[in-house]
Amino acid sequence: MGPVKRTSCSGCGHIELDTFLDLGLSPIADAYTAAPDEVSPTYPLEVAVCAKCRLVQLLEVVAHETLFGTGYSFYSSASAPLSAYHADYAAAVLARHGSLARRGVVEVGCNDGDLLRHFANHPAVGVDPAAGPAAAAAERGLDVLVRPFGLAAAHDIRDRRGLAGIVIANHVLAHVSDVSDVLAGIRALLASDGVAMVEVQYLPDLLVNNAFDLVYHEHRNFFSLSSLEQAALRHGLFVIDAQLTDRQGGSLRVTLGTTSSPSVRADEIRASERWLNSWGAYEGMQGRVERIRTRLQDLLWAEADAGRAVGGYGAPAKATTLLNFCAIDRDEVRFVVDTTAAKQGRYIPGTGIPILNPAEVAGGVDTWLLLAWNYQRQIVRNNPGADWIVPIPAPVIL
Ligand SMILES: [Zn+2]
Repeated sequence: MGPVKRTSCSGCGHIELDTFLDLGLSPIADAYTAAPDEVSPTYPLEVAVCAKCRLVQLLEVVAHETLFGTGYSFYSSASAPLSAYHADYAAAVLARHGSLARRGVVEVGCNDGDLLRHFANHPAVGVDPAAGPAAAAAERGLDVLVRPFGLAAAHDIRDRRGLAGIVIANHVLAHVSDVSDVLAGIRALLASDGVAMVEVQYLPDLLVNNAFDLVYHEHRNFFSLSSLEQAALRHGLFVIDAQLTDRQGGSLRVTLGTTSSPSVRADEIRASERWLNSWGAYEGMQGRVERIRTRLQDLLWAEADAGRAVGGYGAPAKATTLLNFCAIDRDEVRFVVDTTAAKQGRYIPGTGIPILNPAEVAGGVDTWLLLAWNYQRQIVRNNPGADWIVPIPAPVIL
């Protein structure tokens, strides 16, 4: 089934959606292929902003089965930095909201339970529609429902286990086709003094850093505090705290409650977002990413002319968008390395570029194209002796 084109805002239902970024046709980002010449179906990647609430959203809504079918291979536990982040995150939540946790924790989008396991001593439930990761969570002894989360799932959980003291939804709202339904579900589950902790990639960082590769079909919504707050308020959820973090190229962590409560940190972030109300915040993105494409192609051709071997570092979903939009294939990048075992031996969709275990690649690379640029510091430090091309926010050689 082909994608449905969105005609109304996922957050507020308004029908005026202004397109500002068109990345052409791209494959499903993490549908890594089994063979180099396997043809991946492609779908448009167009990004629009709601004229009313300023929620930025992908216009194409690719069917859930297509997105999260057999090719889905993201397991939180496989990423050491993410796993460490989860441990710190859980410790912070328990330190701050330990008494609420004892009344029940629900994690929406629990993946393989890498975060939820830290709440295993509490009444904890995970929900995730991705069967593979959810099965891995169940194998860890965690209580997991395999289904998409929304108001219907929330009622089901509430009827069976009661209201929750804490609802966690980290990097979930970006992936849902109906933001409003998920927020309604969170509100329905939450005890009146409970908190919902929601983390999303932060739209202003995407715009400022030209991080167009964060756009892929699984990533349907891009939030500012203001747009998230407007969507939440429609369901009686109030922002009681907010902070910015550096996860995934820039993230926003928001605490929601059922009553209004002032937060200086949230006020400051809100005030810093006024520029997002102007079309000028969005209109230059297309030209900037096209210049990135030209510059990156020039750099890679210069490497080839000089007889230097180029490898890619990391095969995150965003690599698929970057490589496809920039028309980079095996001629420019011989292979990429990634520590995730499930990706190794497969190929980046639309490119034929093989994904290898870093341990298999002993030297032989003169220049790395850094595709997992959000881990630049750690990766460059741990892999001395080669040059690096960093593509975002503008291609440079280190
Ligand atoms: Zn809207």
